[in-house]
Parts: sequence; structure tokens; C-alpha cells
Amino acid sequence: MIARPPGANRGRRHQTRQGLRSIDGDDTAKVETCHADTASVWIWIADARTGAPIRQPNRVLARRTSLAMEATVVVRSVVFDVGETLLDDTAEFGRWADWIGVPRHTFSAVLGAVTAQGHDNAETFQYFKPGFDLVKERQAREDAGAGEVIGDAELYPDARPCLRELKVRGLWVGIAGNQTTRAAALLRALDLPVDDIATSGEWGVAKPQPGFFERVTRFAPGEPHEIVYVGDHRDNDIVPAHAAGLRTVLLRRGPWGYLWAEDPPVVATADWIINSLAELPDLVRPLS
Ligand SMILES: [Mg+2]
Repeated sequence: MIARPPGANRGRRHQTRQGLRSIDGDDTAKVETCHADTASVWIWIADARTGAPIRQPNRVLARRTSLAMEATVVVRSVVFDVGETLLDDTAEFGRWADWIGVPRHTFSAVLGAVTAQGHDNAETFQYFKPGFDLVKERQAREDAGAGEVIGDAELYPDARPCLRELKVRGLWVGIAGNQTTRAAALLRALDLPVDDIATSGEWGVAKPQPGFFERVTRFAPGEPHEIVYVGDHRDNDIVPAHAAGLRTVLLRRGPWGYLWAEDPPVVATADWIINSLAELPDLVRPLS
């Protein structure tokens, strides 16, 4: 029997999803079914005492799509995107809003609208300052002592433990994202437990261009299907990495991760959709 509050389906598209498993070991609640729509993923559970339906949005772990049917996939390498995958971009977007003199909330809302229209993030600036030159302004920020900061405070709490655990388990671990050469230096200064770090600024090619993922296949050991690319972005990470033959993990966090976790192109091209990097080490194991 499906536990669902009155009116839960009104105005929303619901469908039962297969392949979801609960992480709760809580014997006071019983998983009844799973539902998803374009904006969120959750499980309805029935309270054991009252029977009342309870919505639990974060009890979904590692939804494996049809592309990865094995219990644990054997791979050689795991390569990570940077923004909203390893780093929380909140402060950096806030600094951009400050730099151009608009309220942070206004900047974020317009950024969301630009994303929803399918446009590149950089177009956000054009709404506030037509003709905005991102490269020049980034340099101006640095010259003014207000450049990007990448430190331990920007790392998501699950980032360093995940990288370390993958290394302990014998996987080659890399970082490759759309960042400047300066950001690459800042990332290296974090002394993360990884084998290599590279950025689009260093490679001269950026996501989602196929050339970026061709570089990833040379950057990381293994055949393309033995390399996992982990990211939060449908168009920059999951779809093009899949097209290059890589395994893909969509991390459901940050604006894009939440927005697109159930988007059909993501469901079709992501091997896994996860809520936390803590879930990742148990999904893959190294070639022995
Ligand atoms: Mg990202």
C-alpha cells in the first residue's frame, strides 16, 4: 500500500522509481514506496506508531540507473569536477554579487533563471552589466585583492574523506574542472589526497567541449569505461562525459544538482545519482 498524504499528487508529476534503496536502519519507520518529480526525490514512509505518511527527502542513497547494473562497478580511476562537487560555491558567487554591486539574493535568483533557460552561467552578468567581460573582471578582482578564495572552508565536508577513502581502496583519484590556472594552484595548495589536478585553464579546453573529456581519458589511467567522472552539472559533466565513454556520477547538490537530478537526460546518461560523496566509495572498486 502506498502511503501518501491527501493531495500529494495534485499539480505534480509523480512516478514510482525502481532502483532506490533506503539507508535508514530505523525500525520505527517502514519504506512504503518511492516517488520523484522534476524537482526533488523523496521516500514516503509510514510512521510505525501512527501510520501517518512522512516525507523523507534525504533517505535515498545511490540510485543506480540502468547503465550500472552491477552491485559494485570495477574501475581504475575516479575524476572529480570542482564547483559544487568538491567546493561549495556559495561564498564565491556572493563575492561576484558584491563585486558588481547587486544583492546576493538577486544575483542568485537571476543565475537560477539563466540556468532554467538553458544558458551558460556567465550570461547572468549580462543582465546586470551588459557587455560584462568575465576574464577582465576576474583579473580586476584579483588585482584588487578580492580574487577567488579556495581553502578548507570552501571544501564540502564529505570531499576530503571521500578522496582519501578512494585512495585507500586503491583507486587513482584526480580533479579536473572548469577553472582558471590560478584556481589550479589554489587547489594544489589544499594538499588533497589525490594523484593529479588539472583545470580547463591549464588544458586550454573547457567543458562541455568533447576535447576536455578526451583530455580526461588521457589524464586518468584506464580505458574510458574504467574512469568515473563525478559532477553536479547535466550539460557540463554528465552528458558530455557519458558521450566520451566515461562512467558518470551526478551529485545531487548545488543549484544544478538539485535542479537536474531527475532530468531525463541525466537519468539516461548517469550511472549513479547520489546525495553525498560519502556514498561513492562503496559504488566502485579497483581492478585487482
Ligand atoms: Mg560543478
